[in-house]
Amino acid sequence: MITLPEKYIPLNPDVENFLAQTHKLYIGGEWLPAQSGKTFPTIDPSTGRELTQVASAESADVDVAVTAARRAFDEGPWRNRMTAAERSKLIWRLADLIEAHGEILAQLDSLDNGKPLNTTRTDDVPLSVDHFRYYAGWPTKIEGATIPVNTPGMFNYTVREPVGVCGLIVPWNYPLLMAAWKIAPALAAGNCIILKPAEQTPLSALYLAQLFEEAGFPPGVFNVLTGFGHTTGAALTEHLRVDKIGFTGSVETAKHIIKASVSNLKRVTLELGGKSPNIIFADADIENAIVGATWAIFGNNGQSCTAGSRLYIERPIYERVLQGMADEARKIKVGPGMYTEQPDIGPVISREQLDKVLGYVDEGYAVGGQTVTGGKRMGGEYTEGYFIEPTIFTQVDDGARIAREEIFGPVVCAMPFDDPDEIVKRANATEYGLAAGVWTRDLARAHRMAAALQAGTVWINTWGDTDAASPFGGYKQSGHGREMGKEALDLYTEVKSVWINTDG
Ligand code: ADP
Ligand code: MG
Repeated sequence: MITLPEKYIPLNPDVENFLAQTHKLYIGGEWLPAQSGKTFPTIDPSTGRELTQVASAESADVDVAVTAARRAFDEGPWRNRMTAAERSKLIWRLADLIEAHGEILAQLDSLDNGKPLNTTRTDDVPLSVDHFRYYAGWPTKIEGATIPVNTPGMFNYTVREPVGVCGLIVPWNYPLLMAAWKIAPALAAGNCIILKPAEQTPLSALYLAQLFEEAGFPPGVFNVLTGFGHTTGAALTEHLRVDKIGFTGSVETAKHIIKASVSNLKRVTLELGGKSPNIIFADADIENAIVGATWAIFGNNGQSCTAGSRLYIERPIYERVLQGMADEARKIKVGPGMYTEQPDIGPVISREQLDKVLGYVDEGYAVGGQTVTGGKRMGGEYTEGYFIEPTIFTQVDDGARIAREEIFGPVVCAMPFDDPDEIVKRANATEYGLAAGVWTRDLARAHRMAAALQAGTVWINTWGDTDAASPFGGYKQSGHGREMGKEALDLYTEVKSVWINTDG
């Protein structure tokens, strides 16, 4: 049994049992060890201590999982004999089970990722449930069309068919939710799935597999392979019998995935990073903007692909907003996500990420940047974990690396602007295009900005909202395709056009 720090919330008994288990791979409805026998530890980033060991899948395991998923897709009942209404019911049942076991999943994600239990309880888990419920309604609504073609006697119609076996590769920042974003539409469209959770946060995916089992999905429809990117992930993306990869993660990894996908020209959809501009005009509701811009960056500890990490403030209100944000940031409680006295945000995910973020901070200082708050790793009782103070940089140029590159941590660059017409150019001068924000009371300006910003999501007088029903994704190097809403179903279906000669 693992011993957790004294100040931790007592673990749910099912979580304790789960952590004590030997974690295997979930393939074709069975739990199998990795063929190599290898395992790897998953770490609590609040303490740097091991939580448990999970199986480390390699290409031989990927092959077995692909065979199981293929069989389920090509021969099993899921796509061939079940009706859309039956699939719909199963997805809904899964959502109910996630909700019923929500506390377990919330604790697992908090332990594994470090984020506050309050957050996984109120955001990650309920949003995942919403997501499955939204897509549970879709199987009976995925329709084709009849096409009035210009040939006498020809009847032409379309059907939307599932793509096939989908490898879904997800990151560690919202472990359960990122998996749900992909699994739910893939299931709704009738695909079979091999999920590869991030090596930093494999636990909720393994627990989810138990719920798939309990819900009664046919074997092989949902499989989980825990393992590393360069082994499990690479083998999945190269595999000739995988039809599609759905990926969320870094641009660098996405480029590897595209290269590997060349093997069989499998479909690839990508939800990548950002360096999202957040623009505050002098006519904004300043107090709202201060709180909004603070949480745009520090929400989830800056470990969100949509983090509002480039902050542009109109000159007349620059000092006031900066001071307001510094005050807000100092009020943020940072601490272990499982502490009885709940923090607002947790640690960063890993030692590697800690070093990367602190490297950017050092570089920010080296190029003349100054911090109005933060800028350091936290010590004291937090020495063992990967805690960084919420950090606001000023005196940084748009061209500096910390203002251009995705840091994926609690660091924002605050920059003034003078010319409302110029700011669009500065905001768009990035290789990314995931999200953008605008704070203004001028309705016409809000619409002009929404049209001019090159981003998949634009938030006006708000930040960070997403909904299962609303499409989400990136322009430019922030991605390919859209998740959520009915748009996501396009990513998980192929369109077939059928011609019938009715004169024949
Ligand atoms: P980060 O650097 O923030 O961990 P990554 O893009 O590396 O982000 O990781 C996101 C997901 O991609 C993880 O599940 C990881 O294991 C996986 N991954 C990493 N490298 C590869 C790769 N070469 N091929 C396939 N998947 C990979
Ligand atoms: Mg972990």
